[in-house]
Amino acid sequence: VYKDMSKERMMEIRRQYCNPMTMKVTYYKKPVYIHQGHMQWLWDVDGRRYLDLFAGVATVSVGHCHPKVTEAAEKQLRKLWHTTNIYVYSPLHEYTEKLAATLPDPLKVIYLTNSGSEANDMAMLMARLHTGNFDVITLRGSYHGGSPHTMGLTSNAAYKYPVASGLGCHNTMCPDVFAGPWGGSNCRDSPVQTIRDCSCPQGSCTANDKYIGQLNEVFATSVPSRIAAFFAEPIMGVGGAVQYPKNFLKDTYKLVRERGGVCIADEVQTGFGRTGSHFWGFQGHDVIPDMVTMAKGIANGFPMGAVVTTPEIAASFAKGVHFNTFGGNPVACAIASSVLDTMEEDGTQQISHDVGTYLLTELAKMRDKYEIIGDVRGKGLQIGVEMVKDKASRKPLPPAAMSEIFEDTKDMGVLIGKGGVYGQTFRIKPPMCITRDDADFFLAVFNQALHNYMEDHH
Ligand code: PMP
Repeated sequence: VYKDMSKERMMEIRRQYCNPMTMKVTYYKKPVYIHQGHMQWLWDVDGRRYLDLFAGVATVSVGHCHPKVTEAAEKQLRKLWHTTNIYVYSPLHEYTEKLAATLPDPLKVIYLTNSGSEANDMAMLMARLHTGNFDVITLRGSYHGGSPHTMGLTSNAAYKYPVASGLGCHNTMCPDVFAGPWGGSNCRDSPVQTIRDCSCPQGSCTANDKYIGQLNEVFATSVPSRIAAFFAEPIMGVGGAVQYPKNFLKDTYKLVRERGGVCIADEVQTGFGRTGSHFWGFQGHDVIPDMVTMAKGIANGFPMGAVVTTPEIAASFAKGVHFNTFGGNPVACAIASSVLDTMEEDGTQQISHDVGTYLLTELAKMRDKYEIIGDVRGKGLQIGVEMVKDKASRKPLPPAAMSEIFEDTKDMGVLIGKGGVYGQTFRIKPPMCITRDDADFFLAVFNQALHNYMEDHH
């Protein structure tokens, strides 16, 4: 037992002094009082250990308090914390050169921010300035941030306030082949594909055609003939690890560019090797965006974000002065730089691929066993398990049932996440240092939680 503040005192302070949302969002009925983290593990104040398969929503990329990253942070903290980037210092340059090397041409110009919302805000501004157009399109069910501008990109009512946030923002139907109206069993049976490998011959996926039809309807009904941008994650995160039909992003990028818009990949969750087969999620879709936004895993949980774009777009943005006090500060850069080194040294992308594929394969077997698992999908360590009332209806498993399985899984020592517009999808996005043994432990725990639920309710 550790000498942290007592649980009762923390709750008292929370009630009195903290943002009231923190009371709502304890995530669990019986909250987890976290004391310490190491790699894929978290310990609570009572000394109980949890396998963390959520990692602060894909934020802890190489492991909690990873020794190499901690050492790099400590070293930098003793040297220089902050100067604002009006001065020239080494960590920023070491980092930007390394980050640029991970991206294909012409994505080479980097702007450092402090969060994902800030990065998406900036990308939207740059798109509007560069194109001279205003309208932006995102997918229904997506999450791109909570700032007044990005709230307009986000299409999930839970995160919306009744303010004029979405001026010029439009949503097209999410090409969800499981819960959406189109897409068949062919689309579902390949859980380890980034692009669902429906067996339709190239260019003849009828589900894709219909979702693209929806986009065309947005063009025809909601936006002027020219648009500023299209934002999408390569695999939806908060929206529940939704994967799109083959060619959806490719076709969409073409249509958006034809209308003068730029294409933006939000890699806040899918970047940095999380999808296993590629370092960047967009690479699994055979597209090159005009801008990539990133945060979360970029600095293993230290506040940081970035926008990477082309020299051409950067030139349009250079017409005004952009200033960001903390963006690219030496500590964040030293940490992010050591995160990239650590990813290479620890082989995190390979782990993501190997353990992720194993998890997906085993979860797909569980899907066939349990009536309430509707869909298992994702790629690498960006995994979603969509829960349903029954396989025939595909209706979302109600929140109370989700919560029961979720709480039980936690009580047996594993932390996972929830997502999807109806909170119907369990999300698995662990630090990319987990092992096959950890995966087996989770599978046993999850299987037990499902078994307990089925025994109690069916
Ligand atoms: N984009 C995506 C895909 C996200 O998942 C999030 C955070 N959940 C954001 C943007 C916003 O990032 P932040 O919370 O750092 O502002």
